[in-house]
Amino acid sequence: MRLTQRIVVIGGGVLGTMHAVAARRRGYEVVHLEREGEARGASVRNFGLVWVSGRRAGAELALALRARELWAELGAAVPGLRFRPAGSLTVAADDAELRVLKEAAALPDAVQRDLELLDPGAVRAANPALRGELAGGLLCRADAIVEPRQALPALRGYLAATAGEARAGGSGPAATGGTASSVVPPGRHSGYQWLPGREVTEIAPNAVRDHTGAWHQCDLVILCPGAAFTGVVGRYRGSLARDGVRRVRLQMLQTAPLAERLTTAVADGDSLRYYPAYDLPARGLLPPQAPVAERTRAQLLMVQRADGGLTIGDTHEYDEPFAFDVDSDAYDHLQARAEALLGAPIPRVRRRWAGVYSEVSIGTALYHRSEPEPGVVLVTGPGGRGMTCAPAIAEETFR
Ligand SMILES: Cc1cc2nc3c(=O)[nH]c(=O)nc-3n(C[C@H](O)[C@H](O)[C@H](O)COP(=O)(O)OP(=O)(O)OC[C@H]3O[C@@H](n4cnc5c(N)ncnc54)[C@H](O)[C@@H]3O)c2cc1C
Repeated sequence: MRLTQRIVVIGGGVLGTMHAVAARRRGYEVVHLEREGEARGASVRNFGLVWVSGRRAGAELALALRARELWAELGAAVPGLRFRPAGSLTVAADDAELRVLKEAAALPDAVQRDLELLDPGAVRAANPALRGELAGGLLCRADAIVEPRQALPALRGYLAATAGEARAGGSGPAATGGTASSVVPPGRHSGYQWLPGREVTEIAPNAVRDHTGAWHQCDLVILCPGAAFTGVVGRYRGSLARDGVRRVRLQMLQTAPLAERLTTAVADGDSLRYYPAYDLPARGLLPPQAPVAERTRAQLLMVQRADGGLTIGDTHEYDEPFAFDVDSDAYDHLQARAEALLGAPIPRVRRRWAGVYSEVSIGTALYHRSEPEPGVVLVTGPGGRGMTCAPAIAEETFR
């Protein structure tokens, strides 16, 4: 047995990219393959929320808090992430929602989440753009924001710029039974190689082949395919089925720049119905959601982008085949909720899109990691926490 030196990472989303970062930090050579010219999956379609507030107490909160630390570290090293420790406000529209926030603020882990219950005046002081009617809000100072459309190229730029600086000859993951011929001699590589437009079509012992026919030798494959479960991932479906990994489709929109700053990310009372942190006695007393919100499983999340635009979402669709078109009623609902909180019309909607993520749905795992065959590690299924937790998930892979 010999030590792993060269890793092929498949998938240019946030999970693949964070595995590339973690691998380089441990001194491995990384060849990073992505089937599209640039990542186009969930990782560039999300809010960019590093979201601690809604996580379930225990392992999920611990993973999110560790990831939050790692994002802050990376944010300092990679300005292109536009990491902002902006915090969030979950806003209650009425007393029923406020009771849930009060219970959350009274929990022992409120300190770890850095929570503070605010009355309406304090909500407006914290985020003056919120001029609508509200009963109070929960400030979570641990929540943060990155720019999803810029983060992955920024991280790759960082990897390329620091290639050669990382420790040579890693000693992390166990030896994977490769042959000596698969080890690229020192000096023949720069340490990090990004190969977009290469769909991996075959995984063999110590090598993967892309659709151009090129083979990429390695000691270990880390496969982060997101929600793509066919093609080369198809033969691992049995592993995925054990964790009940399923796909979920969401709708989002983005506006032209808002004339003022939204100082925090914002969530509405519907989010209290979905996030596990709010699985509290007062949640059972919430009235039913608006019918369109219930049908589309909508909650309002609103984040201001670095250019001033607002990213607004989201909905949740679980039954496949998914719709191929977007549902305007859901958008009307989300727009109305955003305007109710702002007390003003939102700027013109410039973009609408849907995105699909994969999530574990059986048991207590927070994501799926398996070794479906020797030398192949499959990591996917973090669900709506994937952008938040990716750096910590990658760290756990190397533990
Ligand atoms: C609308 C939306 C909003 C969200 N908001 C948030 C949020 O604010 N905060 C949060 O924490 N999480 C959020 N999430 C969840 C988060 O975005 C995902 O969990 C995360 O991006 C998953 O990352 P990934 O790398 O596994 O998948 P992806 O981003 O889908 O990346 C997988 C990549 O693998 C590539 N690939 C697949 N097969 C192959 C192959 N054979 N060869 C080469 N390449 C291949 C794909 O092209 C793709 O680029 C959101 C998700 C959505 C859809």
